[in-house]
Amino acid sequence: MHFGKKIRDITNIGKLNITAHFEDGTNTEGELLVGCDGIYSKTRSIILPNAPKPHYTKMVVTGGHTKMKITDKELSIMHSNYGKKDF
Ligand SMILES: Cc1cc2nc3c(=O)[nH]c(=O)nc-3n(C[C@H](O)[C@H](O)[C@H](O)COP(=O)(O)OP(=O)(O)OC[C@H]3O[C@@H](n4cnc5c(N)ncnc54)[C@H](O)[C@@H]3O)c2cc1C
Repeated sequence: MHFGKKIRDITNIGKLNITAHFEDGTNTEGELLVGCDGIYSKTRSIILPNAPKPHYTKMVVTGGHTKMKITDKELSIMHSNYGKKDF
């Protein structure tokens, strides 16, 4: 396992020796590449260059604590409740 490597490019896609190239000039080969590099995934942009880009949906989340009972029945509002053991 190596830390601090940043993927720059992927070649041999669809072949048995898929190659990951890193920004430090090194590369590695394997039969399977798992791209789990987040919302701005470099892996996704290489494998699926025409995939939709992430965009801001204007969703806003705020949080707070109260001991009051929640009585708001507004359908457009989602309440997330934190308990001692559950969320
Ligand atoms: C403020 C905040 C609060 C959140 N709260 C919750 C919550 O309460 N519950 C919940 O379920 N979710 C929550 N989320 C969402 C959750 O954090 C994400 O959905 C989840 O982390 C996504 O996981 P991921 O593995 O896809 O990507 P990430 O966790 O983003 O991991 C991607 C990794 O890839 C690395 N990386 C990026 N580019 C490269 C590259 N070129 N080469 C190599 N590595 C790279 C990054 O450094 C990072 O380590 C929250 C998010 C935020 C921002």
